[in-house]
Amino acid sequence: STAKLMDKDKKSTVTFDDIAGLKEAKIEIKEIVDFLKNPETYTKLGAKIPKGVMLVGPPGTGKTLMAKAVAGEAKVPFFSLSGSEFVEMFVGVGASRVRDLFKQAKEKAPSIIFIDEIDAIGRSRGKANAFQTNDERENTLNQLLTELDGFGTNTGVIVLAATNRADILDKALLRPGRFDRHIYLELPNKQERKEIFDVHLRPIKKAEDVDIELLASLSPGFSGADIANICNEAALIAARKKKEIVEQDDFMEARDRVVGGLERKSKIISPKE
Ligand code: ATP
Repeated sequence: STAKLMDKDKKSTVTFDDIAGLKEAKIEIKEIVDFLKNPETYTKLGAKIPKGVMLVGPPGTGKTLMAKAVAGEAKVPFFSLSGSEFVEMFVGVGASRVRDLFKQAKEKAPSIIFIDEIDAIGRSRGKANAFQTNDERENTLNQLLTELDGFGTNTGVIVLAATNRADILDKALLRPGRFDRHIYLELPNKQERKEIFDVHLRPIKKAEDVDIELLASLSPGFSGADIANICNEAALIAARKKKEIVEQDDFMEARDRVVGGLERKSKIISPKE
């Protein structure tokens, strides 16, 4: 299992330039980058650098992207695991997985640990799903709490976790010295959607007629992930039609497809504008 974990120590190439919108969240996340790059600025004044930061927001709003950007900007190794990986694990495996991960991150400090879908491990006790014994999930959660408490505040390891269900998390996770900082990511408004389109249109050969303003207007309630999806889908559609460039009608078709996909998943969330 160590070998498998080792390849999870990835160099992230994501930077803040890849993230559109999310202005407030970016300001907060930049502070985390500074904790990793210039810890002395804080420690010499006696400050304790936060250990755990929770990224909270709906699916596809850029939580993973943010975590990778922290590692990319600070140029530190990125260790990650997903809470959903633990769902089918045998007794004892989850806890040892967590232990290994922290051990490696400490050896490579300064570094980032990213735990996606932390609610799968950290939902409040007694609310486990039917497919998983409560015991194993609790072992894993307890190991995570032990690790968080066990390392000093200034070891150079910062743990970022992501959830779209902060409401169901075990309160123990949110106590001081654990995940006591929360950064909120929201669905983009129209202007932000436009900026997200801009980012994802960068690699695309697009026609003059592509109207980003209109695309942004026609995608209320879409997440950054949905917009990334539209851009790629549009390029695929154009390629299938043997076009040299991607045109507005390809984007419209792609948009309709993404809307169709969202409706099937009944995931449309009313926009906040
Ligand atoms: P989930 O909760 O479903 O895991 P998430 O919040 O972690 O989602 P990401 O995996 O970070 O979302 O986003 C998926 C993709 O969507 C990103 O890789 C990126 O291409 C795009 N994306 C999301 N938000 C943004 C944004 N603000 N700016 C640019 N691209 C974005």
